[in-house]
Amino acid sequence: MKNIVAGNWKSNKLIDEAQQLFNDIQSIIRNVEKTEVIIAPPLPYLGQLAALSNSKLSIGAQQTSAFGMGAFTGEVTSEMLKSVGVTWVIIGHSERREGFGETNEVVRKKVRSALNNGLKVILCCGENLSDRQSNDHFEWVGNQIRDGLSGVSAEEMNDVVIAYEPIWAIGTGQTASSAQAQEMHAHIRGIVKGLFDETVGNHCRVLYGGSCKPDNAQELFSQPDVNGGLIGGASLQADSFAAIVSASEMQH
Ligand code: PEP
Repeated sequence: MKNIVAGNWKSNKLIDEAQQLFNDIQSIIRNVEKTEVIIAPPLPYLGQLAALSNSKLSIGAQQTSAFGMGAFTGEVTSEMLKSVGVTWVIIGHSERREGFGETNEVVRKKVRSALNNGLKVILCCGENLSDRQSNDHFEWVGNQIRDGLSGVSAEEMNDVVIAYEPIWAIGTGQTASSAQAQEMHAHIRGIVKGLFDETVGNHCRVLYGGSCKPDNAQELFSQPDVNGGLIGGASLQADSFAAIVSASEMQH
């Protein structure tokens, strides 16, 4: 089972910069063997970059629509993403949940739409600081996982990856300790085992996200239940992203 390192570029980069960054990353990571590398650029560049993707570097979207084709002005559907060569989609990122009203129910619909249309899913979960301080973080994340995966079959879990991203660690420079990450990842894996079975739980890759950088990636990725990372800020420069990919390559 390969690790995954995925770069979420969020709303950054104009097209020329995006193309340059993609080219730089593609050339630096061309020898990866143990890591699946994914980049999630802004939506307008998906088709152009997906046309250049290969077995070493795939393209993901940062979100998808909960609806199918039709009268939904401004929405971009999973069918459309698939048709331009996108293979992955990030669903339920905390910035979408907090800033754009994505409830667990909306997340569940988006997961369904993605899987129905042959996209692989990175399902994000994570608690805010007050949930952690009140010791509600395990329950909060558990509910996000149970709701997000509701209706997903054991077979479909082959196309689902979970990203644990504590909100207090995203873009703050304050990373979860490797012990905090491991503890929550083990909890998430336990929930997946409970929903499906041991095998599905053991095969489900759980990524860590939240101020993951070249200097902490190796320590995080060395935890038994951490199978790679979802990277925000450090994915915006080829060198730092490639260093995180190298940290993943050094595992096993
Ligand atoms: C993210 O938003 O998915 C993320 C992990 O961001 P950062 O790495 O910048 O904390």
